[in-house]
Amino acid sequence: MSNLIRVTVWNEGRHEKKDAHIAAVYPQGIHGAIAEGLRQHADFDVRTATLDDPANGLPDEVLNTTDVLIWWGHMAHRDVPDDLVDRVQARVLEGMGLIVLHSGHFSKIFKRLMGTNCSLIWREIGEKERVWVTAPGHPIVEGLGPYFEIPHTEMYGEFFDIPQPDELIFISWYPGGEVFRSGCAFYRGRGKVFYFSPGHETFPIYYQPEVRLVLANAVRWAAPVKVVGFRELRLAPNAKTPLEPVTVSGS
Ligand code: ZN
Repeated sequence: MSNLIRVTVWNEGRHEKKDAHIAAVYPQGIHGAIAEGLRQHADFDVRTATLDDPANGLPDEVLNTTDVLIWWGHMAHRDVPDDLVDRVQARVLEGMGLIVLHSGHFSKIFKRLMGTNCSLIWREIGEKERVWVTAPGHPIVEGLGPYFEIPHTEMYGEFFDIPQPDELIFISWYPGGEVFRSGCAFYRGRGKVFYFSPGHETFPIYYQPEVRLVLANAVRWAAPVKVVGFRELRLAPNAKTPLEPVTVSGS
């Protein structure tokens, strides 16, 4: 069996169809640009999928053979069927990695996994974003400097209504004065979840080398870890036979 990490880049794909300016920034779609960056790495096997594909791009045969799922959505969160959200959540709990990007903060799957409303503040004037590394030993920041800058972005600011992240990887600063927890890692069941905020659809952010590096690092971090003897997901199994002989008085 191949050792490649099987990545599926899922994109809603509606902005590119509706807005010529966005189609010009992302002629292959946002998913196409993200996939293009990941395909530069020989250890990934990359597929793409969109909301308007059959079975919303994620039939069981795709989802069940995905090690890491990348999620970009914005204007059509409501069109994602609840049963797909159930299936993605189940896959995360059994070990699939999930990377949620930008406006995916309001996706059904991210809200499901967080349990909060995932609201934030925003402003769209194309200001700069300075992304600071706050976890210099973390695999997601490998190869970066102390910070990098995105020349034009949409501001996402605090308060970001998420649970405290298990690991805070990046904090962003904007010239307008706001800050934002822009890279947040969470563990859910056996799965790893990474939220990364850069990626507004009107700017060419997914072509930027630092952003592509973060995504590649995040894929490797989020890939499932296989623990021998710990593979089968069973709910509340009865551990009838103790590992050591146990004498219970009075029985
Ligand atoms: Zn946006």
